[in-house]
Amino acid sequence: MERGDSETVFDGRAERQRKKFRLKYLEEIRRETEAIRSRPDYFQELDYFVDLLESGPDPAAISARTGLPVAGLLCVQAPFELVRAAGFHPFRICGGSAAAARLSAPQLPPVMCPALRSIVGAALLEPAGGKGFALRIAPCTCDWTAKMPELEGLVGSGGAPAFYRMDLPRLKDRDESQERWLGEVYALRRRLMEAAGGKRVGPPALSKALAVYQGAWRAFSNLSGLRAKGHVASAVFAAVAASFFHDLPETWTERLKRALPLFKASAQDGLEVFLAGSPVFFPNFKLYRLLEEAGLRVAGDDLCSGERIFPGAVFCDDPSEHGLLKALAQRYHQGCLCPVFAEDDRRANSVVAPALDGRHSGVVYHVLKGCHPYDLESIGLERRVKEAGMRFLRIETDYAEEDSQTLLTRLEAFRNSLVPARRVASVGWTRRRVDRRETRGSSPEHLPRAYRHAPSSLSCRTVSSGSQSRSASSGPLSFPAVPAQPSRQGRP
Ligand code: SF4
Ligand code: SF4
Repeated sequence: MERGDSETVFDGRAERQRKKFRLKYLEEIRRETEAIRSRPDYFQELDYFVDLLESGPDPAAISARTGLPVAGLLCVQAPFELVRAAGFHPFRICGGSAAAARLSAPQLPPVMCPALRSIVGAALLEPAGGKGFALRIAPCTCDWTAKMPELEGLVGSGGAPAFYRMDLPRLKDRDESQERWLGEVYALRRRLMEAAGGKRVGPPALSKALAVYQGAWRAFSNLSGLRAKGHVASAVFAAVAASFFHDLPETWTERLKRALPLFKASAQDGLEVFLAGSPVFFPNFKLYRLLEEAGLRVAGDDLCSGERIFPGAVFCDDPSEHGLLKALAQRYHQGCLCPVFAEDDRRANSVVAPALDGRHSGVVYHVLKGCHPYDLESIGLERRVKEAGMRFLRIETDYAEEDSQTLLTRLEAFRNSLVPARRVASVGWTRRRVDRRETRGSSPEHLPRAYRHAPSSLSCRTVSSGSQSRSASSGPLSFPAVPAQPSRQGRP
């Protein structure tokens, strides 16, 4: 056999395998969207969101829908508004397909974040591969994302453009870090302007983009509020959140506003829990399905695939170019509550604070196997949550279905151990009073940090809701004020 023949045989096998995995991938999407459509609380206005998910994450199709070239973002820490202001549609690249993760698995490290493994595999499964992206942006957050280009190189990128990487400073409270991140935001703007053929991204385009995303954030906050009151099922909320990047935010916002009043007719069963930890990406909604089966209802979450797709909206009193870019930089750096940052007490408070006002009976903490940032923080967080009087369950899983029964049994046992949310709050208060009196003394520095934040007045601020309104009870997020100054182009 000639060398060319064996290559042809090999390519033929690879192609057959790709087709087989693509069918499985489409089946996962179909199964999950069908499960949502067949819910008793489903109503017609949800069709828009489910249709978006059903059409898949193909960048070429999304570009045709939005009328804009698509910029793929590997994480929600790249500023959407800046991408949009440059004339691109920001699409968050999510990896929730088990089939896609399995396709790429043989060439990748065995204990790798399944979400990223799935992203690598999915690029080979889309009809046009990754070619539909005009550019791709990767903030280097965890170690896996920093290594993503190398990992992708082992499998192939389906013709996608190379990742443009942003260097994310992890010690975010330092002035130097904030300056460095601002420099990264300026550099991203340069890269976007280059990709847009030199089109300038100035204050008018930035302000317009800020307004678009403020509107989306408001509508999404209302949805979070309805979920907290028991009107929105956990999987439906996650599906609406997952569809956000599949269309223009303006259209998505209008559709959500239409759907919001209709949620009020539904009352969800189950004990309220707060869901924290690694993201849960569509179509792998195994966790939501199991939670519901176990009689648990997500009333709030800390997931960057859930409430944290919007850590808050950006409102800025300084409309200069520098002021707007600085506000964006602060919002995406200081406002982000991802555990990839070092020593972020605000993050712990955002999970613990619900215990103080009794909104949740317990915390379910999700760790994707191989996701080190969440794995690492889970032990300390468990201690804090329990000190606050709430129960805590750590669930470690991946995209395989095999552990479903074990997880369900654990979730059911957890549910049986819970007391309704308001009683948890009173137990929590009692415990804390005893703790302080008997073991910690009563000076302010011995109080939990949640009680010690002081408000500050801001000229540029992030307004938050959902998970971050929980931080409001533990003290507002405070950012250094942006000084009023004339527009300075090309800074820093
Ligand atoms: S977990 Fe953190 S680093 Fe990972 S995608 Fe979400 S926000 Fe980005
Ligand atoms: S933070 Fe965790 S879930 Fe997010 S990309 Fe890194 S390993 Fe994956």
